[in-house]
This record gives sequence, C-alpha cells and structure tokens, in this order.
Amino acid sequence: MEKVIVIRYCELYLKGKNRGFFERQFAVNMERALKGIRHELRRQSGRYVVENFNDDDTGLILSKLGRVFGIHTLAVGLRVPSEMDKIYAAALQVAPASGTFKVETHRADKKFTLNSMQISAEIGGRLLDNNGALSVDVHEPQSIVNIDVRENGTTLVFGRFIKGAGGMPVGSAGKGLLLISGGIDSPVAGHMIAKRGMSIDCVHFHSYPYTNMQAKEKVIELAGILSEYTCGTNLHIIKVTHIQEEIHKKCNGEYMVTLLRRFMMRIAEKIAQRCGAQCIITGESLGQVASQTIEGMTSSNSVIERLPVLRPLCGFDKNEIIARSKEIETYEISIQPYEDCCTVFLPKHPVTRPKMEDVLAEEQKLDVDKLVEEALNTLEVVEL
Ligand code: ATP
Ligand code: MG
Repeated sequence: MEKVIVIRYCELYLKGKNRGFFERQFAVNMERALKGIRHELRRQSGRYVVENFNDDDTGLILSKLGRVFGIHTLAVGLRVPSEMDKIYAAALQVAPASGTFKVETHRADKKFTLNSMQISAEIGGRLLDNNGALSVDVHEPQSIVNIDVRENGTTLVFGRFIKGAGGMPVGSAGKGLLLISGGIDSPVAGHMIAKRGMSIDCVHFHSYPYTNMQAKEKVIELAGILSEYTCGTNLHIIKVTHIQEEIHKKCNGEYMVTLLRRFMMRIAEKIAQRCGAQCIITGESLGQVASQTIEGMTSSNSVIERLPVLRPLCGFDKNEIIARSKEIETYEISIQPYEDCCTVFLPKHPVTRPKMEDVLAEEQKLDVDKLVEEALNTLEVVEL
C-alpha cells in the first residue's frame, strides 16, 4: 500500500480553447512548488496524482501544494493493486470512525470483474459489517470513500478532500507590478491578483537611513512568502530618500505623501515597462487612511501614462484584509513595527483631498524627471 496525493483542479478554465495552455502552466507551477522534494506528478483522467514520495514529506507536499493556484481540492489516499481485498484494506484506512458515509467508485479499467456500482456496494457493505458506528447515506453523507480503479492494474482509494488555493494557474493571465510596502494590505492585494493567474513582480521604496535595514528585510520576507503563491517574484528596491528630502526642503509639507505617491507611480511605471509588467497593483482601500481618498487616487493615478492601476482591496474593510493576511500567512510579518518611507517627514496635517492645481503647483518646485532618473539608478533587484 503506497501513499498518494490526489489533486482536483478548478474546472472553470478547462472550458475553452486554451485548455492545453492552462494545464501546461498548472503542471509547471506544481512542479516548481515541489522542487527538491522526491515525487512524481502524473495526470490521470481529469486529476493529478503525486506519487513515489517519502511518507515523511506528506505534510510538506500538502503545504507546498496549498499555495498553488488552480488547485480546487486535495486528498491523501492509498494506491493498491486492483484486488477487492486490497481495495477494502485501503478503504478501511480512509473510512471515517463513525457517522454517515458512502462509497463512490470510478472505474477506468472496464475489464475489472465488478462494475462501479458493484464495487461501491461490496466495499460499503464490508465497511458497515466491520464498524457498527457507520451508516450509509447516499444523498448527504458526512464522508465519502473514493475508489478509482485505474487502467494499469492499480486502484486509488482516498477519503476527505481538503480545500486548495482555488483560482487560476499563475502565468496564465499576464504580469503585474505590485507596490509592496511592508504593511498588511499590499501583500494581500498581490495575492488576490495572482490568484486570478497573474505573475507578479514587486517594487518597494525605502528611505534609508531614515528607515532602517530591518524594514527592508521585512519586505524581502513578505515578498518571499508571496513568491510561494506567485511561483517566484523579483523584488525591485528603490531608494527615494533624496526625493523626500527635496519635497521636504522645497514644497509645502502637507503634500509630502501626495507628491511622494506620484513619484512612486512614475517610477513604478518605468520599472513595469522594463520588466514586462502590464499593470500596476496597489494595496489601497478607499477611505482607509488620509491619502486613500478618491482625490488622492486621482492625483497619483494621473502621472501614469499607459498602464492600468489595479486596486483589488478598494472595497474591503480593514478587518477583511486582516483576515486574509492571516490566511495567507503574511500578517505576523506585516505587523512588525518598522517604519515605512511614507512615515518619514510625515506632516501633522496631510492634505486628504488634494486639488490637482495645488498638487501641480507644489510639484513644479521640483525637477521631477531628474529625481525619477536618480531614483531609478538606485535600483537593486532581489530574486525570490
Ligand atoms: P499597506 O498595508 O500595503 O502599507 P497602507 O494601508 O499602509 O497599505 P499606505 O501606506 O497609504 O496604505 O499605502 C497604500 C499603498 O501604496 C500600499 O498598499 C502600497 O501598494 C503602496 N505603498 C505604500 N508605501 C509603499 C512603499 N514604501 N513601497 C512600495 N509601495 C508602497
Ligand atoms: Mg503602509
């Protein structure tokens, strides 16, 4: 009896002409997640099966696959020779200890002596005889014992399916550049868009030495977790210290965040073009903080020349975002108390509803192109 992991994928993308493309990408992503762990991944009639792995690695494989988008559900099962006694022995192991159940059989091997109904009836009957705490409910069972009689003389027997990450395979929907800050929101925003199949690169702005090195390490760590969902990512790191000093020196301090945001967007668009990203993604949520008003967004959006800006969290409450960040396991890192560059030179009363003409008047005091150019020269890329 050998342990296997059965993977059911999300049905949605199987429809349509791109099926082959999606499936290849999906398989590549699963292989990437399992790199370095002994295993074989096979496709079997609308499912994938992981086999030939060390028993000790079962938990590790499940947790790695738990971050692969496109997986609908997963189950640990057993592979046995296609003989009724052996199938029953495996069924005994995956069957629940009590409650209602049913046996569901899929028979690819049409030469097997019993048909699906007969296999289900016989195994179900034997399980009932063996354990008085079980009863059959074919309509709404609490548990299902799945039996999959393969064409190659082996049978897969598996029980409870656990929920996978859902979504679409990363790499099937283009590429975006995520503005990642070290806060709670932006990693969640990146996760949401990656779930729809988009590859993600990240850009982070820091103002060392006003912000410290730990702040940068924290962002690298966050991008590292995100990269497990996004099948890798490049983190582009840019120093904006000089830009902030110039704003501080020359402009009305109330516009610090507004102006800085516009610089971030300009630089992000340049990096996006360099790395082939087709959109910019932020973790903004409408009305969450002073700078996240529609006027603030209009101001920062208006410097973007070509790309769409996706703000997947716009309609979310903070507690909904926090719940997601806990689910994807970025929360504990996000709440470490290191300063973001937006908190440097922060005015007591930042403008909340910047008027375009005022923003432009303040910005005119700066040599925008030169500052953008200089900032781009500080680029450092961390591959994750
Ligand atoms: P987050 O939790 O993502 O930091 P926030 O609620 O703190 O969000 P802001 O600090 O106003 O909100 O930032 C809004 C968005 O701007 C962030 O979600 C992120 O996309 C981007 N951003 C802010 N600071 C940075 C930074 N230092 N580097 C890159 N992007 C940033
Ligand atoms: Mg922040």
